[in-house]
Amino acid sequence: MAREEQSAECIFCRIASGEIPATIVYQDELVVAFRDVNPQAPTHVLVIPREHVPSLNAVSEQDKDSIGHIVRVSAQIAEAEGCADTGYRLVANCGPEAGQSVDHVHFHLLAGRRLGWPPG
Ligand code: AMP
Repeated sequence: MAREEQSAECIFCRIASGEIPATIVYQDELVVAFRDVNPQAPTHVLVIPREHVPSLNAVSEQDKDSIGHIVRVSAQIAEAEGCADTGYRLVANCGPEAGQSVDHVHFHLLAGRRLGWPPG
């Protein structure tokens, strides 16, 4: 089934299109990465597909290139941020019990401090 590529109501779509400002650290034709406005660690970057995918539950075969690319891009950002060797966490919240607050798939890249496990 066809899916809308962008949602006018989605804040992350609007960041990806440049309509809403963000501190973008990387972007290409598939993904955009920008600093979280409410950082939970010294490095806190959000990496998103350009296409509007509401949650991990909505990821389909058509998203494999962008979602796979997010992992590769995140590792490159970690290298650029200087945390590739010290360590970082890549995490995606899905649904209310996980705390997802924006309905556009996003991966949090967190680093720069000791990250507890299990997460809260
Ligand atoms: P989640 O709670 O997993 O859905 O994560 C959403 C994240 O988006 C939160 O960490 C917010 O701080 C972040 N966020 C919301 N609006 C913006 C924005 N305009 N620019 C950057 N980060 C944002």
